[in-house]
Amino acid sequence: MIGVTRDMDGQDAYRLALQTREQHIRRDKATSNICTAQALLANMSAMYAIYHGPEGLKGISNRVHNCALTVNAGLKKAGHEQLNKNFFDTLHIVAHGMSTTEVKARAEAKKINLRYFSDNSIGISLDETVKTSDISDLLWIFNCSDIDSTLADPTVMNMSIHKTQFKRTSPFLTHPIFNKHHSESRMVRYMKQLENKDISLVHSMISLGFCTMKLNSTTEMIPCSFRHFTAIHPFVPVEQAKGYKQMLTELEKDLCEITGYDKFSFQPNSGAQGEYAGLRAIRSYHESRGENRRNICLIPISAHGTNPSSAQMAGMKVQAIRVNHNNGTIDIAHLKEKVQQHSDNLSCVMITYPSTNGIFEDNVVDVCELVHKYGGQVYLDGANMNAQVGLCRPGDFGSDVSHLNLHKTFCIPHGGGGPGMGPIGVKSHLAPFLPTHPVVYPLSGSENTSFGVVSAAPYGSSSILPISWAYIKLMGGRGLRRATQVAILNANYMSKRLENHFKTLYTDPNTSLVAHEFIIDVRDFKKTANIEAVDIAKRLMDYGFHAPTMSWPVTGTLMVEPTESEDKEELDRFCEAMISIRKEIQDIEEGRLDIRVNPLKMAPHTQKQTVSSEWNRPYPKELGAFPAPFVKPETKVWPTVGRIDDLYGDKHLVCTCPPMVPNYE
Ligand SMILES: *Cc1c(COP(=O)(O)O)cnc(C)c1O
Repeated sequence: MIGVTRDMDGQDAYRLALQTREQHIRRDKATSNICTAQALLANMSAMYAIYHGPEGLKGISNRVHNCALTVNAGLKKAGHEQLNKNFFDTLHIVAHGMSTTEVKARAEAKKINLRYFSDNSIGISLDETVKTSDISDLLWIFNCSDIDSTLADPTVMNMSIHKTQFKRTSPFLTHPIFNKHHSESRMVRYMKQLENKDISLVHSMISLGFCTMKLNSTTEMIPCSFRHFTAIHPFVPVEQAKGYKQMLTELEKDLCEITGYDKFSFQPNSGAQGEYAGLRAIRSYHESRGENRRNICLIPISAHGTNPSSAQMAGMKVQAIRVNHNNGTIDIAHLKEKVQQHSDNLSCVMITYPSTNGIFEDNVVDVCELVHKYGGQVYLDGANMNAQVGLCRPGDFGSDVSHLNLHKTFCIPHGGGGPGMGPIGVKSHLAPFLPTHPVVYPLSGSENTSFGVVSAAPYGSSSILPISWAYIKLMGGRGLRRATQVAILNANYMSKRLENHFKTLYTDPNTSLVAHEFIIDVRDFKKTANIEAVDIAKRLMDYGFHAPTMSWPVTGTLMVEPTESEDKEELDRFCEAMISIRKEIQDIEEGRLDIRVNPLKMAPHTQKQTVSSEWNRPYPKELGAFPAPFVKPETKVWPTVGRIDDLYGDKHLVCTCPPMVPNYE
């Protein structure tokens, strides 16, 4: 959900509404656990509507409808029955004088898949890719004799939906954006303008801890546009998808080897959906043993917000477990107490390893043993697999189920939040409870014991799986291990480079090292310079960087995950930006910069502000917009809005873009 707020110059600014992140804020009280978005796909649909506009879309839909009308008329002439009284693009046929087997054989001869209902009726759906030759083929399949005259027959229009009460009369896509960009040149320019507003991996590293943003290599991504992967319906007969089956089988085998699990389900479309599916599998497992009462889910307070909200959605009751103040690890004494207190109805514990605080917990094996001893199951959130692949395996610690974020660890790009794939791996005792599917029997789950379905498609967003498959095959075992080692090394390098300037909140008590990400504690600057994490995050934009994860998992801090994809030069550049910001904070602390109007509080600096003749801030423009030698005019990414008013946006949820007037009658 996108809300509208305003920046310090009063311009409109669009941003994710508070409501969109509710699982992080409301945790087990949340009514949705959605984290990964389908923003990229939504943008594709939006661009389709922008390009064609209302008139173009009407043209397309009329053509589709006319094709359906022609097929309808032809089939009727050939003596078949069409059951849909009103239709747009879909016909429901009862064939007369032909068996379904015969229709199917003729359809397959023309390489056409139809929908065969269990009552022997047949479904035909058409879309705008249908050509005249496809219509001829369909009529041929159903033994129509006079195909050419049917194609030319204007009376087929008698059944048109335009002659019924279902004809649309209200206007649609009235917003100006849908009525402007109808040529390829205009469309490309418009998309480029939007792209120019974004900072992405083509500009600089994105240090979002928690949400691994690594290289999405071209070689891995190219197969996603192969027709063989994209132009295939999720419900095609399995013998037509042998390539997919091979890819899924190989990927499953590799992921089992990487994680130590026995079986994978590729149905969940995101990490959060994987959590939900994994927890439902745990519930079904308990129920199969007559232990329906087991419904308590223990979750450390450091857990990602999706964990408690998924548990709640899966019908469990969430109990929070404390973490140790000194190093952010799970408070084992508290866990023990809770496990014993709920021993009768303990369902599971959800842990993250390495922890969200960036620490490999020594006692992860003990945690699993403790929970098992009291009849519970262990869900290990696999989002931090980037720090484990090739080094250690959740299955070996004693964990029973995990999701993997293929869009984090395994290279699927998730700019804008999606599309994602959150397959879950399980130990064999949970395998019968994995998701199933009513149309296509998936590789996992068992029809009688599965808890059900989590996605419409049997293998989720399967067309992006070639990316993860190719990544694993290209890297090989040694390459994958090396990637993990470099990811951990990079995080430790940055944490050390910054140690004289910023405090790393949690390090391993024995080694003083971090895992693949680390938390920078900036909370003291509130007292010394009135500077908070958000000011640093905004100031980083002036240096050409996306902010790290802010205020999570610890309020008022910044979490950095460099990943293995960045070279030393880029890590240094980010560190230099942070060190330079630290100097600016010092300038505030020591009075050289104003405590209220300074480059941090006023960040980010827009081009408009910077070139304006009305500059009345007590620091030079150059310091605002070009704060480091590596920020150069020729590579500068200008933020398009200045500091936004978050509170205003949170309080004013605007779902309808101006200038359209909402009509809620
Ligand atoms: C990203 C993440 C999730 C949620 O995964 P989505 O695919 O975004 O739904 C869960 N747990 C952790 C630790 C994560 O980093």
